[in-house]
Amino acid sequence: MPFNLGAPELFLILIVALIVFGPGKLPEIGGTLGKTIREFRRTSSDLTAELTREARLLKDSASLETRPACPTCGAGVEGGAKFCGHCGASLTAKTP
Ligand SMILES: [Zn+2]
Repeated sequence: MPFNLGAPELFLILIVALIVFGPGKLPEIGGTLGKTIREFRRTSSDLTAELTREARLLKDSASLETRPACPTCGAGVEGGAKFCGHCGASLTAKTP
């Protein structure tokens, strides 16, 4: 997160805005700022959801790679196992 805005920072920004723009324009600026922050939060939550989805897909494909299928019955077997836990066929004989 590039911005870590707490109450003191927001207060400081409000003071600076008051000095720069004057009290007359504050409601307008506040509205624009609120819209910008809402848009930013929506975008960042979309991004977080997207990243979470991508990470889960990566994890799924990685776990599929470490769990090869038995060449005889097609059941998933432990990585490093010598015999299929499902049908008992030798995994070292047929797998390359
Ligand atoms: Zn098997």
